[in-house]
Amino acid sequence: MRAEIEIAESLSFDCIVCGGGPSGIAAAIASSEQGLRTAILERTGSFGGTAVMSGVNHLLGGRFYHEDTKVMEKTVGGIFDDLVDRMIFEGIAIAPEEIDPYNNPHGWYPRMAAGIPFDGNAVKGLLDRILIEKKVVPYLFTKVIGAEVDSGNISSLIVNNKSGNLKMKASYYIDATGDADVASSAGCRFEKGRSADMLMTPASLEFHVDNVDRERLLEYQNQNKSPKLVEIIDELKKKGIWDFPFDIFVTVQLNDPDVFMVNTLRETFVDGTNGDDITKAMMKGRADVFKLHRIMKEYFPGFSRSRIRYIADVLGVRETRRIVGMKHVTLEDAKSGRVYEDQVARTTYNFDLPDPKRPSYDPMMGSAKKPDAKRQHISIEVPYGVMVPDRVGNLLVTGRAVSVDREVLGALRVMGPCMMLGEAAGTAVAAAKEKGQRCADVNGKELRKQLIERGLLFGR
Ligand SMILES: Cc1cc2nc3c(=O)[nH]c(=O)nc-3n(C[C@H](O)[C@H](O)[C@H](O)COP(=O)(O)OP(=O)(O)OC[C@H]3O[C@@H](n4cnc5c(N)ncnc54)[C@H](O)[C@@H]3O)c2cc1C
Repeated sequence: MRAEIEIAESLSFDCIVCGGGPSGIAAAIASSEQGLRTAILERTGSFGGTAVMSGVNHLLGGRFYHEDTKVMEKTVGGIFDDLVDRMIFEGIAIAPEEIDPYNNPHGWYPRMAAGIPFDGNAVKGLLDRILIEKKVVPYLFTKVIGAEVDSGNISSLIVNNKSGNLKMKASYYIDATGDADVASSAGCRFEKGRSADMLMTPASLEFHVDNVDRERLLEYQNQNKSPKLVEIIDELKKKGIWDFPFDIFVTVQLNDPDVFMVNTLRETFVDGTNGDDITKAMMKGRADVFKLHRIMKEYFPGFSRSRIRYIADVLGVRETRRIVGMKHVTLEDAKSGRVYEDQVARTTYNFDLPDPKRPSYDPMMGSAKKPDAKRQHISIEVPYGVMVPDRVGNLLVTGRAVSVDREVLGALRVMGPCMMLGEAAGTAVAAAKEKGQRCADVNGKELRKQLIERGLLFGR
């Protein structure tokens, strides 16, 4: 292994995006589209983050299904929408408009039908192609392990890959690690979990099964009005067969009709930024996959001949650090429908963050529906400043680590809104570079105009 080396010309960029998940991909594409020489660093072997490496092959937050008018509304434009169109065109995702909201095994209630199931392997390949087309310089198996700060700016990143520890340098950095790894390493302030006890919502190891009898499952769910099979689980509990800390079964049909993602396991008391916790949760999760699958085969309708097709390579972590940003969205802001002249993103998704100790209990689920007399459902706006950390001038933080109350994170953390934030971050660093500004000085009102022109924002 080489020792740390000096920055080679080839390792010097206008913008380095750290993390290749939904928000990082959108950030890198937006930055490169505006002429910035842009690199994207990803610690695993594929781009896509939780969407592919944690097996969450199901995009939420890009559509909203109006149960009253039966209209499926697009809520996110820009890079997210282009990606979805391309996935549907290539036959590797199902258009939500084609899913019958009242008769499908794609989720648990009509509004979940607004999700977009896709083929994870095919999307890995598509993302590679898109990043190459967009001239983003890719680095896989490359982990950011430190940030050096000089006079209030990040001067370089220390990264590690098979070549050793390397220094990389850019004019601007975007932290899309989901965990605010770069911001925390650079000394920016952050919050983590609940303020009282720092506990975070449970983590999940996802797995996929194939050879499922979709019609049998659907028939049972419809006849018993039981999408989560709670009465079967109750019986199994009484018989001592079910001893998991959760008591609902959550599954979503993916691109192929017999393939289902099982989003059911819940690992409590896991800090996704702690190496020991992740190791234990991953191994316990894998043991739980086999245990749950045995139960599914024996007792759950439609699964008797199912086979485990895939177990996620990366633990699914919903919540870790949230930066202390230049602006912060509180629960009250979100519920009151506050609007911002520097709006960069929005979410119409539910408040969805299961309780850290009671994983089947989602304290705020349902509060998004008709939040007050005037509005049918919640639409939460997010201002530019939630991505601007303190103490460092040339860094933006995007995705699930932005500055919002954790209840708001429950609504914002899904992939459509995370990609919006990423696209806004990539667009913002281009604006900052043009004027030689600190990220904090970017004109948010102008940025919003640009994002409307890009087709990212609409519908206020
Ligand atoms: C179990 C589970 C189920 C979910 N279900 C859904 C769903 O059905 N639909 C939906 O839309 N959303 C769902 N979500 C939420 C959504 O997947 C995430 O919130 C979203 O992917 C966050 O995007 P992100 O880009 O901020 O972070 P991530 O997707 O976490 O991506 C971060 C990327 O950064 C990389 N990285 C991290 N640290 C470093 C580092 N130091 N150096 C280099 N790279 C690094 C990671 O490997 C990863 O690729 C779910 C989440 C979980 C955990």
